[in-house]
Amino acid sequence: MMPCPKCQSSRLVPVGQYSKLVKRGFLGAGVLIIAAVIVPIFWLVLPIWMLGSIWMYLTRPLLACEDCDHMWDPRNPKAVIQRQKAADS
Ligand SMILES: [Zn+2]
Repeated sequence: MMPCPKCQSSRLVPVGQYSKLVKRGFLGAGVLIIAAVIVPIFWLVLPIWMLGSIWMYLTRPLLACEDCDHMWDPRNPKAVIQRQKAADS
């Protein structure tokens, strides 16, 4: 695992993208439920969507540094991650 890009510390903790899961997963589920009321075939898509959202959450964690509190995406370290204080913790 690569060290912290900010302070080179190796004390890293994986952080689930919980806020992103809630936003995308539940927004998408809401849209699918409305679609399913009109076209019932979407009831079959809904559980696949929910499982996909959970799978995304479990397999794509962010990394956070315990020393300097920096958080980043290991697949895209240059991207700046905004801590979502309200939804996390
Ligand atoms: Zn750090």
